[in-house]
This record gives sequence, C-alpha cells and structure tokens, in this order.
Amino acid sequence: MELNAQDVVAWIEISNEYIQANKEYLTTLDQKIGDGDHGINMARGFQEAAAKIAEQNYTSGSDVLKDTAMTLMSKIGGASGPLFGTAFLKLSTAVKGHDPLDHETFTNGLEEAVNGIKQRGKATEGEKTLVDVWSQMVDHFKQEADFNADKIAEEAKAAMERTTDMTATKGRAAYFKERSVGHVDPGSASSYYIFQALADVIKKEGINHGLCWYRAHFPQS
Ligand code: ADP
Ligand code: MG
Repeated sequence: MELNAQDVVAWIEISNEYIQANKEYLTTLDQKIGDGDHGINMARGFQEAAAKIAEQNYTSGSDVLKDTAMTLMSKIGGASGPLFGTAFLKLSTAVKGHDPLDHETFTNGLEEAVNGIKQRGKATEGEKTLVDVWSQMVDHFKQEADFNADKIAEEAKAAMERTTDMTATKGRAAYFKERSVGHVDPGSASSYYIFQALADVIKKEGINHGLCWYRAHFPQS
C-alpha cells in the first residue's frame, strides 16, 4: 500500500475533522493539567492547515506536509504549535522525492519526526507528552512490513491511554507534579486523532462517513 499526495491531503483533512469534533474534549483535558487552550490551539491550526491545502493541487505528499507544518507553526500559539509543526516538517523533509509514499519511507519519516519533537521539547518517552504517542508509532511501524490501519489506530489509542498513569515532567503539566497523574495528556490525545485519521485514510474511510465520504471528497482516488 502507498500514499499519494491526495491521500496525504485526506490525512490532514480527516485529522482536522477529528480535532474539530473533539475540540471541547481536548480543552477539558488541558483544563485538568494545563491552561485549557489545547483544543482551541489545535482546532485553529488544523482548520487553517486544511483550508490552505484545499487550495492547491498537489503532486507530492511532501509538499502537503510542508504546508501543513508551516501553517501549524504560524497559527498555533503555545507549546504545541512548534512541536506538531516540527513533526510534520521533519516528516515532509524525510519523504521528499518519494511519491507515492511507501511504508519504509513513512517509517523513516516518522522516526525523524519523533527525533524532531524530542529535540524541540527537550523531552523523551515517559514524560507524559505527545512524544509517548509518536514514539510508539515509530516502534509499531518498524515492526510491520506494510501499513496496518487497525493496528495503527489501536496502538495510538493505547499509547495515549498509557499517559494517564504518567507524571508530567515537561511543559505546563509538569507544574502539577504528581497531581498530573490520572489524566490523559492533551497533546497525546490530539496525536491519537492524527493517527486515527491516518488509519482511516489507509482504509479509505472518513470520520463517521466511510468510503462514500472519502470518494465524494477525493473522486480521483
Ligand atoms: P501550552 O502548554 O503552551 O498551553 P498546548 O496546551 O497547546 O500548549 O499543548 C500542550 C501539550 O504539548 C501537552 O499536552 C504535551 O503533549 C505537549 N508538550 C508541552 N510541552 C512539551 C515539551 N517540552 N515536549 C514535548 N511535548 C510537550
Ligand atoms: Mg495549554
């Protein structure tokens, strides 16, 4: 299985749909162990990114990812803008020249993305941040020979859920110290939606819409 430029556009569009649909939930999570802006931040950034990429006619997935990265960096305030922006930018650079995108290239790209997030946030695994979801995805992709939609969604969800028992040591949540335990990390929840969206693209489904929705949005696919 391979991802063409339209699939990558769909990935960002469906991510945006999940984030818009769960904006309040993401905000609630950030109210518990942060300042309550994560839903607003992500909804603004992904809305702008989806609008930006809808205007173009892409032939390369890397270009879609680059425009997404730039938009996220400029439109999202707070810690998460540069972090998600870096993730998509590193992914974009790593997959440049590979169209359509195969599993091996995507795996390498994800690894670069995680390294970028870690460097940006000076964070590593187990610190209750989005690193915990993205890093789990790298481990998963390395174990598989091809895109496995069900496993991607399942593993991303499990990784997000595992942040509940962690103590935050990075970002605003770190101020809550042990009181951060018992809550899902907001950035990990957003990351889960992004990988659920990727799984939907692989299965050619859209959020709650199935194949018909996907075909209506992307008739050429
Ligand atoms: P802010 O913390 O500035 O209010 P957001 O609320 O939008 O920004 O994003 C918070 C999320 O960003 C956290 O849930 C966490 O996943 C992630 N995060 C914050 N700081 C770091 C960091 N230093 N390294 C990695 N991820 C981080
Ligand atoms: Mg916040």
